[in-house]
Amino acid sequence: MIEVKELTKSYGPSYAPTVAVNKVSFQAHAGEVLGFLGPNGAGKTTTMRILTCYLSADSGSATVAGYDVFEESIEVRKRIGYLPESAPLYTDMGVLEYLNFMTQVRQLPKSERKERIRSVIDTCGLEAVIQKDIGELSKGYRQRLGLAQSLIHDPPILILDEPTSGLDPNQIIEIRNLIRDIGQEKLVLFSTHILSEVSATCSRVLIINNGAIVANGTPEELASQAKGEEVVHIAIRGPQEAVEARFDELDFVSQWTHVETTDDIVGYQINATQESNAAEALFHVVVQNGWSLTELRQESADLEDVFLNLTDKEQT
Ligand code: ADP
Repeated sequence: MIEVKELTKSYGPSYAPTVAVNKVSFQAHAGEVLGFLGPNGAGKTTTMRILTCYLSADSGSATVAGYDVFEESIEVRKRIGYLPESAPLYTDMGVLEYLNFMTQVRQLPKSERKERIRSVIDTCGLEAVIQKDIGELSKGYRQRLGLAQSLIHDPPILILDEPTSGLDPNQIIEIRNLIRDIGQEKLVLFSTHILSEVSATCSRVLIINNGAIVANGTPEELASQAKGEEVVHIAIRGPQEAVEARFDELDFVSQWTHVETTDDIVGYQINATQESNAAEALFHVVVQNGWSLTELRQESADLEDVFLNLTDKEQT
């Protein structure tokens, strides 16, 4: 549905360019909710503006539903619904009036307009506000209206730029649920700098940093990539020297660190090789030696570790 190859875009004068998008390549298929995750300034908006034909690129290619975004922009726009980060809503227009206006902008046949308006009101839960002016709407409802306008021509692809930005936690959940529902039928590509958003909503994640894609996979795949090691926290009541000598003998322990000793209890952080079932194995070691175990806790790496490793922390 979307195919991007080596897309590159710089801003500013050629003697001092800001490279916003640097040889970005990816594909997106029908039935996916694809999260475009990266810190502010990573190049998300620029990529989306190129895909929606609002911006040209310096080099590379991009096709949407088989049409070239540079050569066949009219065909591309017909197949894409776009919600920019700050949706251009006319505050003194009524909700219905605005949706009607959008059916005209999208040049929908007159005979279909009523039905399309009804359908997006239903999908986006706008029934309660159809009599209102846009200026009277809460931010959450404005965002729903923004989504409604992006869906008005029933495009197979939706591109949403930071769709939950500036919303309160309840509104965020509502919009996420809406995106998930819409994603059952359409390809949705949405950007965010909020990590929890992608685990909650996406079937696949592209992590972008400094204009380049640095990771591409399902949230679970990316989290398991980070799982090079297991980390186990353990506290043992036992002879410290003997305990440490035993750790040295264990193959699955790649490193151990003495954390603290309180009242005869010695605490350690153990780094163990992946899939060693380290916590269980350590439990047996303690029992076999007749020591007592006062704490055993295993940490697993998650998507947050991947994100922090792959992006510049100071930019987030
Ligand atoms: P994101 O959406 O991930 O926050 P953007 O695509 O907006 O990232 O920005 C990528 C980089 O391009 C940033 O360094 C930003 O400052 C720069 N940039 C974006 N738009 C412009 C512009 N119109 N003129 C100059 N630089 C820009």
